[in-house]
Amino acid sequence: MSRAESPPPEKKSHAKKVCAGLKRAYPDATCALTHANPYQLLVATILSAQCTDARVNMVTPELFRRYPNAASLAHAERNELEELIRSTGFFRAKARNLLEMAGQLVSRHHGEIPRKLEDLTALSGVGRKTANVVLGTAFGIARGIVVDTHVRRLAKRLGLTTKNAPEQIERELMEIVPRSQWVDLSHRLIHHGRRVCLARRPRCEACSLSAICPKVGVSAAVNTAKPERSKTARKRSTQSAAQS
Ligand code: SF4
Repeated sequence: MSRAESPPPEKKSHAKKVCAGLKRAYPDATCALTHANPYQLLVATILSAQCTDARVNMVTPELFRRYPNAASLAHAERNELEELIRSTGFFRAKARNLLEMAGQLVSRHHGEIPRKLEDLTALSGVGRKTANVVLGTAFGIARGIVVDTHVRRLAKRLGLTTKNAPEQIERELMEIVPRSQWVDLSHRLIHHGRRVCLARRPRCEACSLSAICPKVGVSAAVNTAKPERSKTARKRSTQSAAQS
């Protein structure tokens, strides 16, 4: 959406209701990645690509004990680093990015985490989403809106966007949501996506936003979802497979 075509007022008013509903439901929602400083959050966010936050939180305590800052990470031994982060998946590419990123932090920013989006996205392994996470959560700077898989799915279901590409979704959200709510909105959408508006089985009947949600594409998601099998059924199937 170009700046010239400002969004219709009803879209902004709908976004306002969604933001208010999410705030009531998750007043204290914040980033689920455990971190004590901007460096730790940046590393954890890079590791969280294609991996759950819970898994990343299992790996980072030892990682940060061994490499407490960019300088120590820049000199990490590659094999050792790969072993430490192996369980987060794509560990070779992630280790390469972490080593390069840490070296760049040392050479360009005296080992500190920059506070500009352009400086962050110039680092290896850091895209716009990661940069927005670090700016918003570590520094309280709302430069954009984090669009991860949950935000993407929920923004569509809630009728906040019709776009598919994360950058386009982010732009649309930025047009209809006040900047003061950008950081909280993504935290709250992510919380809601994990607890209620699940990818395959959105729990609309238990959702506090149900009255204002157009539920775009929800029936299609439910119809294509594989039925959940009960524990007993899974056990029986495993037993018969073992006996055959
Ligand atoms: S009503 Fe359904 S589709 Fe809409 S946000 Fe809630 S769970 Fe998601």
